Amino acid sequence: MAAASAIAKTFHFGPIIIPLSQTFLVTKLSYALVNLKPIRPGHVLVAPRRKTLRFNDLTQEEVTDLFLQGQRVSKVIEKLFKAEGLTLCIQDGPKAGQTVPHVHLHVIPRHQGDFPNNDDIYSVLEGNVNPAPHIDNDQINPRSNEEMAAEAVLLRSELGHWNQGGD
Ligand code: AMP
Repeated sequence: MAAASAIAKTFHFGPIIIPLSQTFLVTKLSYALVNLKPIRPGHVLVAPRRKTLRFNDLTQEEVTDLFLQGQRVSKVIEKLFKAEGLTLCIQDGPKAGQTVPHVHLHVIPRHQGDFPNNDDIYSVLEGNVNPAPHIDNDQINPRSNEEMAAEAVLLRSELGHWNQGGD
């Protein structure tokens, strides 16, 4: 029998099974994963481990942990991708643009001029006609497992460095 403390090998992301290799932060209630189709380099996700559709379905403990981990992740993403700001958002429900039926916080590094208009990012996130001609969401090819795993290794090590008081 597996030890109670054994680390999970896979995680639910709605109907999708995420392998441990594509995650870079795991707590009892939440996990952070690299993105199959990031709309900007460094676009990652933080999700509750429990399969949960809507934000209001989360318990207080899950909300707290989701945002605490979201904060840890955003510090690392901002530094690693030399961001000047971050877009943090939840598309809560299909009518709000949610395509994966599982609560998740988007963490997206932002830079001056990354979209012609700052809020164009939300259209791109929704996969609507892209106002930025150089970034067509539908044309973003899914990344390979290898590429995603390599990014997860990098982010894991950066988080470890951070946890040890590094900057
Ligand atoms: P939303 O449209 O807000 O539900 O966001 C869904 C996010 O999940 C998008 O950023 C997708 O690129 C991402 N995504 C979809 N499938 C996967 C997957 N298998 N692994 C990682 N990210 C995924």
